Amino acid sequence: MRKFFKCLSLIMLIGLLCAFGLGCSDEEGTPAAGDEDSKEKPTYTVAFEATFAPFEFRDEKTGEFTGFDIELIKAIGEVEGFDVELKEMGFDGIVASVKTGNIDIGASGLTINEERLKEVDFSTPYYQAGLGIVVRANENKIKNVEDLKGKTIAVQIGTTGAEFARTIEGAKVTDFDQVTDALMEVKNGGADALVNDYPVNLYYVNKSKDDYKMVGGKLESEYYGIAVKKGNTELLEKINNGLNKLKENGEYAKLYKKWIGVEPPEFLPGEEEA
Ligand code: GLN
Repeated sequence: MRKFFKCLSLIMLIGLLCAFGLGCSDEEGTPAAGDEDSKEKPTYTVAFEATFAPFEFRDEKTGEFTGFDIELIKAIGEVEGFDVELKEMGFDGIVASVKTGNIDIGASGLTINEERLKEVDFSTPYYQAGLGIVVRANENKIKNVEDLKGKTIAVQIGTTGAEFARTIEGAKVTDFDQVTDALMEVKNGGADALVNDYPVNLYYVNKSKDDYKMVGGKLESEYYGIAVKKGNTELLEKINNGLNKLKENGEYAKLYKKWIGVEPPEFLPGEEEA
């Protein structure tokens, strides 16, 4: 009999917990328990690789992740009513994690390209980038992409820069998990050059002008998009609507100016019709 009551009270306790929605929610995202406001607010996980300043990196002073992408996705969440949970990971794992639904959002300076469009869906472009070359400051033989033929090139694994470097005749390409390690390899003489996104090169070269310089200008043009799982139109619409709202209320331009240092271009692809 005692056992019976014990069992019964346990069942009642579980029932009570469920009634209060603790641990039994099957809603999308994970609403934070507590204040009224966050009850219906979903939390989406955001994946990024954090050696990609000024888009995503760890602030040396505060120890927090920050940058254009980080502040942009947080601002989108604010106008669209969702919270974000930041998840740092290797760059080459981001598209796969979004594809399987392990991660809700990929915001990591991700270039929209055909290959990735087969795996995930992208928001409207939010930044126009392109590739560039970094060499040692005292290097005087490499002046442009032609001069990279047969050279040793450091790249970040899984990037468009890595792909591009492998099309250069006779080049020996070494992959690194982090952009900062690839740069170090150039500085140490283990590689002749780095091929990586132009705005990111600019940021790191400006920080260490004694060590590095940029050569050859912008090699081509690419557009960054925010990635979601294929078919997750609900989330994609939130992101695109949020982006539009931030463009209209001036917040996008503010963030662009803060992190890129110049005014945003008048149009990105797809905006002319908007
Ligand atoms: N834009 C490049 C790409 O998508 C590099 C991105 C990155 O290293 N974070 O491949």
